[in-house]
Amino acid sequence: MELTGHSYKTFFEPFRIKSVERIQHTTRAQRIQRLQEANYNPFKLNSEEITIDLLTDSGTGAMSSDQWAAIMKGDESYAGSPSYRKFERVVKDIFGFRHVIPTHQGRAAERILFQCSLKEGDLVPNNAHFDTTRANVEKCGAKAVNFPIPEALDSNAKALLFTGNMDVSRLAELLSSKRKEYVPIVMITITNNTIGGYPVSMENIKMVSKLCHYHGIPLFLDACRFAENAWFIKTREEGYAHCTPLQIAREMFSYADGCTMSAKKDGLVNIGGFLAMNDEDLADKCRRELIISEGFVTYGGLAGRDLEAVAVGLREVLEEDYLQYQVGFVKMLADLLREHRIPVLTPPGGHAVYIDAAAMLPHIPKEQFPAWALGCALYVEGKIR
Ligand SMILES: *Cc1c(COP(=O)(O)O)cnc(C)c1O
Repeated sequence: MELTGHSYKTFFEPFRIKSVERIQHTTRAQRIQRLQEANYNPFKLNSEEITIDLLTDSGTGAMSSDQWAAIMKGDESYAGSPSYRKFERVVKDIFGFRHVIPTHQGRAAERILFQCSLKEGDLVPNNAHFDTTRANVEKCGAKAVNFPIPEALDSNAKALLFTGNMDVSRLAELLSSKRKEYVPIVMITITNNTIGGYPVSMENIKMVSKLCHYHGIPLFLDACRFAENAWFIKTREEGYAHCTPLQIAREMFSYADGCTMSAKKDGLVNIGGFLAMNDEDLADKCRRELIISEGFVTYGGLAGRDLEAVAVGLREVLEEDYLQYQVGFVKMLADLLREHRIPVLTPPGGHAVYIDAAAMLPHIPKEQFPAWALGCALYVEGKIR
C-alpha cells in the first residue's frame, strides 16, 4: 500500500483488539441472490451476509475495556441511580449546561426539544439539518431551513477549511425580517453530517451565537460529532493549536444555550443520547415529556449500565491519540480512493468519505439512481455494504 503523505501515527491504531468475531464467507452467486431477495435494498440484507459493513458508524463500534468495566458497575434503580449522577457529572463537565436529560438516542432528544419549543408555522434554521432532525421539526408543523455556505454546494469551489459553516448573512437576513417572530430556536450541526461531514469553525459558532443572542433567540448545537469538530478546530483554526480537545469543546458549547446529542457517534457507545440546556423552564417541560415516552428523568430510555458506558466514552473520545487516528484514517481512505480515480468530496470530514456516485458513473442517468446502483454493485463485487 502506498503510504506517502501520512505520518506513522496516523496509521497506528491507538488501541489493541483482544476479542474477535467470526465473519461468514459468501460467494458472488449467493450475494446476487440475497440482493434480489432484498429487492435490491441493502438495508434489507442480514448483517451476517456482509463482510465489511460501512452502512453507518452510528452505534456500530466496539467499546473499550474501560467501558465494559464500567458496565459492570451499572446501577439499575428506577430513580436516583449513581450511574445517572456519574453520567450527568461528565456531561456537565464537558458541555457545561445546567440541565442534562438522558434519552435513548439523538432523535428522541430532538423530538422532545422540538415538541416543547416549536409550534405550527415556525422556522428552524440550521447549517444543514440531519434527516431525523428535519423530520422531527416537520412533525411539529414547522419548517426546517438549511443555511450552508455557498461553497458547500459547489463541487468546483476551492476547498475550504470549514465547509460546514453556517451562512451567517442568510441567517442575519432572516432574523432582521418580519419572519423573525417565527424563529424560536437556531441550530448548528457539528460536524455538518448532511454536507460532507465537514467541520464548523469556532469563529462561525461565535458569530451565529452573537447574532442569535442579539435577537433573543436560543442557539442549540446538534453535538453528535463534537469531538471530531474540536479536533478540526485544533488543527485548522488559528489560535487553537495549543488547546486540548476538551478545552475547545467547552468553548464551543459556552456559546450555545443547549444541545442534542447522539452518544452513538462521539459517545462511542452502541445506544444512548441526551438533551442538555440552561433554561430551567424549558428543561422542566422537556422532563415531563421525557417521562411520558422515554422514562424517568434519571435514566431516559437507557439502562444504568448504558449511562456508565456513555460517561466513559465521552472522556475517551476527547483523547488526542484517538482523534488523530480517527480523522487521519478517514483521510487515508479518501486518498486511497482518489489514487484509484474515484471522485470523493475533499478534503474529507471526520467520520466518512463521501463518494460522488454521479461523477463516478456518468453512464448511469440520475433517474436510475447511480449512488444506489453503486451501493448494490459494491456488495456483489466487494462484499461491502
Ligand atoms: C445520528 C445523528 C442524529 C440522530 O441521532 P440518532 O442517535 O441516530 O437518533 C442527529 N444528528 C446528527 C448530525 C447525527 O449524525
